[in-house]
Amino acid sequence: MRPLSRPSMSKARRARIWDRDGGVCYLCGVKVALEEDWDVEHRIPWALSFDDSDENLAVAHKAGCHAEKTKGDVKRIAKAKRQAGETGQQKRRREKGGSIPSRPFHKGQKRAWPKRKLR
Ligand SMILES: [Zn+2]
Repeated sequence: MRPLSRPSMSKARRARIWDRDGGVCYLCGVKVALEEDWDVEHRIPWALSFDDSDENLAVAHKAGCHAEKTKGDVKRIAKAKRQAGETGQQKRRREKGGSIPSRPFHKGQKRAWPKRKLR
C-alpha cells in the first residue's frame, strides 16, 4: 500500500543531508548562504517515487530553485504517469549521473516459455 502523505523531516535528518551535500543546492550547484532558506528536497518527487531514503534527498534553495522545480515536477508527474516505463530507482540512478549496474538483457538467451504446439 502506498503511504498517503509525505513523511516528516526531522532536524537531525536535515542536518545529516546538509553535511553529506556540503550545503550545496543540488539544483543549481551553488552553496546555500547562511541567510538563505533551504529545504531538503526529494530528487525524484515523492509523488512519483515514494522514496524517502537519504539517497533521494538533497539540499535545495527554498526560494527559486525548489519553487521552480516543484512547478516542473507537476508536469513531470503527469508525464511519468502517462509513460510509466522506467522505475523510480533507475531514474534516480540516472539523474545522479551514477552508473546503472549492468544487467544482462537476455541476449541470445532462449525463451523460457515452451513453443506453442500447432494443431
Ligand atoms: Zn539553488
